[in-house]
Amino acid sequence: MPKPPFISIPLDIADLRVLQTDLTQAGELILTVESTLEHTTCHRCGRTITEPHGTDKPRLLRHLPILGRPVYLRIRPKRFRCPFCDDHPTTTQHLDWYDPQALHTKAYERHLIVQLINSTVSDVVAKEDVSYDALLGILDRWVATTLEWTTLPAITTLGIDEIALTKGHRNFVAVLTGRTADGLLHLLAVLPDRLKATVVAWLQTIPTDRRACITTVCCDMWEGYSSAAQEMLPHATIVIDRFHVARHYRDAVDDLCKHEVRRLRQELPQAEREDLKRTLWPFRKRSADLTDAEQERLDTLLGHSPALQLAYTLREELTAIFDTAGSKAAGLRRIRCWRQRVERSGLTCFEGFLRLLDTWQDMIANYFTHHETSAFVEGLNNKLKVLKRRCYGLRNVGRLFQRLTLDLAGYRRFSPWSAGSH
Ligand SMILES: [Zn+2]
Repeated sequence: MPKPPFISIPLDIADLRVLQTDLTQAGELILTVESTLEHTTCHRCGRTITEPHGTDKPRLLRHLPILGRPVYLRIRPKRFRCPFCDDHPTTTQHLDWYDPQALHTKAYERHLIVQLINSTVSDVVAKEDVSYDALLGILDRWVATTLEWTTLPAITTLGIDEIALTKGHRNFVAVLTGRTADGLLHLLAVLPDRLKATVVAWLQTIPTDRRACITTVCCDMWEGYSSAAQEMLPHATIVIDRFHVARHYRDAVDDLCKHEVRRLRQELPQAEREDLKRTLWPFRKRSADLTDAEQERLDTLLGHSPALQLAYTLREELTAIFDTAGSKAAGLRRIRCWRQRVERSGLTCFEGFLRLLDTWQDMIANYFTHHETSAFVEGLNNKLKVLKRRCYGLRNVGRLFQRLTLDLAGYRRFSPWSAGSH
């Protein structure tokens, strides 16, 4: 019988010797290893000591898998005796590839952290066969629960967003993000609510020189955010992003669409009711993105409802203003014209949106001079949506901060393949 092929690969841990390799019946690899370093630092006097004093009890540390097999490193840590201190205390050797109390090597902990990106704790527990508590302990050691400002370059744009943690949309946490001049998005904070006082208190924690660098604040139409920003960042321009604006006027038209479809279902003859199926999606899409078949379904629906046709046209017109207006003055002028058309139309679905315009029009129009903010919020919003689904019911803002940090910057910070890894 031919010998099965064998390979040798480096273990990639410095100052380590492999004494023995065992394959258990369960298919796990146990590598018995020993440090080649013959010294440590005395825990009492801090001097380097080299006098051997036996070994500690053996440790079994989970390490990175090899060819899909779980791998454990078995090590008896060396002990050394101090000749300088009075009663010659002994110290166990500290090695930089595992923490003294850990059950895993640092390389494996980092691997688990990367597995947690865009995933859940339970999912990684199941995939990797580690314990829930051990994984949370690793998360706490690797990812801080609040921001260290010193680790960040200057933030020029501040984004204030929110996630509803429970149904009913009353229980919000505020999510603060910052964009640096190089365009990278950083998570700055997760706050337990969206009250003005909470936001002000957080803005006060930003170092003064960092506060001065923030030129733009991008947020939703929410008094708590805008007044906190005006108070603490008086030099910054507040921009209500088009993304937030769009949500309001598009939702208003969506509601009318659902109402009209319900009405038509009762009023139309049976044969024509079939036309109403699968119309909401083409209705929601931008007209430029519709396929021929979708356009046909949409035309049939709009043909049944002149009011909906009108609302749809007004919606697309407003979107076009955000797409094309080249200056704040032009944007404001076109929004005022649009508003007149809405008021003449007799439609009631935009009433709530017009009230928002009364209050926020100027900050909305700041978008026309700060176009870049849109991609900023939309990118984050997708992450928030996914995180919300995964972490539904997670109320601990420190945990949310860790999870969002991982989703936004996890590969950049922790992937062994990423150039900027540390
Ligand atoms: Zn000593």
